[in-house]
Order: sequence, then C-alpha cells, then structure tokens
Amino acid sequence: MKPRLIFYTSQETRNSVSALVAGIDYFCIKTKPEISYASSRDEILKNLSDSLNIVAFSVTTVNFGERYRVFQGIKRKINGMKNVIFVAGGPHADGDPESLINAGFDYVFSGYSEESFPLFINNSGEYLSRGSGQIIRSVTSHLWQRRSFAKFAAGYFPPLEIQRGCRFRCNYCQSCTRLNMPLYKNRDAIDEYVNDFISNGFRRFSFVSPDAFDIRFACDRRSPENMDTLFDYLKLRGISIIEYGQFPSEIRPSKDAEIYFKTLVKYTKNRKVVIGAQSFSDERLRKIRRAHSAEEIEITMDAACKYGFYTIVDIILGFPDETPDERLYTLDRFRELNKKYPSRLHVHYFLPLAGTGMYSSNPSALDMATLRLLDKLEKDGRARGWWREGRRMTAEIIRMRERFSGKTDSETAIFND
Ligand code: SF4
Repeated sequence: MKPRLIFYTSQETRNSVSALVAGIDYFCIKTKPEISYASSRDEILKNLSDSLNIVAFSVTTVNFGERYRVFQGIKRKINGMKNVIFVAGGPHADGDPESLINAGFDYVFSGYSEESFPLFINNSGEYLSRGSGQIIRSVTSHLWQRRSFAKFAAGYFPPLEIQRGCRFRCNYCQSCTRLNMPLYKNRDAIDEYVNDFISNGFRRFSFVSPDAFDIRFACDRRSPENMDTLFDYLKLRGISIIEYGQFPSEIRPSKDAEIYFKTLVKYTKNRKVVIGAQSFSDERLRKIRRAHSAEEIEITMDAACKYGFYTIVDIILGFPDETPDERLYTLDRFRELNKKYPSRLHVHYFLPLAGTGMYSSNPSALDMATLRLLDKLEKDGRARGWWREGRRMTAEIIRMRERFSGKTDSETAIFND
C-alpha cells in the first residue's frame, strides 16, 4: 500500500512544501506517496489512512511552540497508533535538531531536504526498522541548481528561489546557516521555472533572494548586467509583471545601489522596495556582522528615491546588549532621513533563532522613551512592524529553548514581558 504523506501547511511554509513536492517528483520513483495537505490538527486526523502515514511539519524557531502543540494534540488523539510517524524539518531543524527529537518527533531532517526526504520515503521500511529518534542530516544537492524545485502544491506556486544561502553570515540570521557559500539557480532551472509559471497561467513574477542585487544570469559575478539580462529574458518570454526588491527579495545597502535601481526601474512593476538596514548605529552593524555601514543605508535610500522608489526600511530593536541611547539614535536618524526620502520604518524585535550565533541570547527590554517614540512614529504613519508580536514570539522561543534545548542565557536575563 502507498504511504500517505500529510503536510501540515501554513502561510510561512508554502515555499518549502512546494520544494519538497518537487523533490518527490524528481526522486521518489519506487514508492510515490499519496500527498495531502492539512492546516489544523483535526484536518490531519481526518486525513490519516490505514497505510503508513507520514505527518510532516516544517518548523521555524518562531512556530516551534505552535507546531509542538498541534503534534502533541494529534499524538494524544491517536493513542499509540503504530502506522503514524511524525517528521520535522525546516530552519529550526537545521539549527537545533536535537530539540525536535527531545520534543518527540520521530525523524528530524536537518539541512536542505528536497533530496533526503524523498529518499527517506522510498526507504521508509528500512528507517522504521532502525527505530525512531533519528536526525537525518543533508546538504543541498547540486541538482537544486539545475532544476526549479517549484511545484504547484496546496493551491500555491512559489516565487523563483534564485539564490540560496548568503555570503554575509550576519550573526542573528538563519538564512546563512545551511550553506557556507551561496548557490545560484542556473539557466536550465530558471527555464524550467519559467515554463511552469507560464503554463500555469500566472502573471506576477517574484523572487526569493537573500540579497537582491546579487544574482547570476549573464555572468558569474555580482553585476547589474545579470539583472538586466534576466529581466529582459523574462520580458521576451511574455512576463509583464516583475516584482523585485521587496519581501522576499530584499535589498542590502550598498555603495553601488544606484546602478541597480537604474535597471530595476526599467523592468519592475513595484515602486516600493525593502531595504534591510537593521540599525543606523555603525557599532551595532559591526557587532551583528552586516558588512555595510549606516552611510551605505543612506546611499541606498537616496538611490531608491532618485528612481522613484518608496523605501521600507527594516530595523531590529532589542539586541541583547542594546542601550536606550542606541535605540533612540537609530529611530532619530531614520526620522531625519524620512524628511528627505519617501519611506517608512519597519520595526522588528530581536528573535534568538536556532543555528545563529545569537541563539542562546535574550533580547533587551525596550525602554519607555523608545516605546513612546515608536508610538508616535506609528501614529504619524512613519513606522509599522512586528515588534509587538516579536516580543511575544521571543517569549515563546525562550520557553521552548529552555524546555527542549536546555539553553539559558546567564548574561542577559533582562527579558521584559
Ligand atoms: S541578514 Fe541578509 S545579508 Fe545577513 S546573512 Fe541574512 S540574508 Fe544574508
């Protein structure tokens, strides 16, 4: 009997589910599973069959608590059924796979798993005989560069993931933890994606890239020629709506931003871009290893404005050793720039993510002066963001981390909620 594979799906895991479904298509020859999608505990229960059921969770450090509650809820309901196995993967599994085994998942996929997961399904009998509680570690296969790894799955077709991994290795960021060096999709993979995109009748073309100005197409180095040639090719293929430089293909500040905006304005539909600034303090930028300066943020905002783009400027507050003066400096510096450039601040709160250099750190509490200023900026329409939700998320991350990883931060125990 075919195994049944049930993906627990939600908004933030759609891209990885699509890549896994593509992987199953490319690799899973012997035992193609029957795939279904469920977005709640009850839907998963309804989908269980008499054959082997593989219930798959994509876990981020942020959603670990919620996934754990759903998974435990199912376990209680099925009361020891032997034909259901629970597998977990995703960014949290890359950084802290042991915590997922400690939480009770049967198999944990750490690293890019588009190849190892189908092979696991193909050989599930063998894995089962070896017993549960295993971590299956994998690196991205070079096939990823040659194939699109994008399939229409759960009613969704993902943006083109054109770059994977990031050379900058900022010490709070999970995007760079799976790979030491970035990989880029090659021409064959892009062609496959474009063919699927067109044959599915989609119109709005967007990308996933950790560093929007660093793509490869015409040549093998960072150059605006790549962007120009790629977008030109997309236009030739009849794609009229190209969106770039906004989530999830944000722009890193750089001295040469202007030559890239000159290309963007020629081809893209969006007139809003997201700039990953993170802070206006040079000392903070050095500490978190951003490899750009506050001046380069200003140069990038200036270039965006010159070509008619409105900028959304991402910053993070609550770094572990951050002071009230540093926060107010960053907010005030933005206020000055906001007078010159059409822009809005997008405020995040520090999240200690598994696998990063700051996983075992705790955030600092936001002081009253910062809270008042954030409130004012929001009322004036000059800031928005996830910082309130971020504080709630961080509280949950720390609870899960202490419970399943035993990691506590002895130095910065100043979390404030
Ligand atoms: S924050 Fe951005 S630039 Fe830094 S490592 Fe992550 S993806 Fe790369």
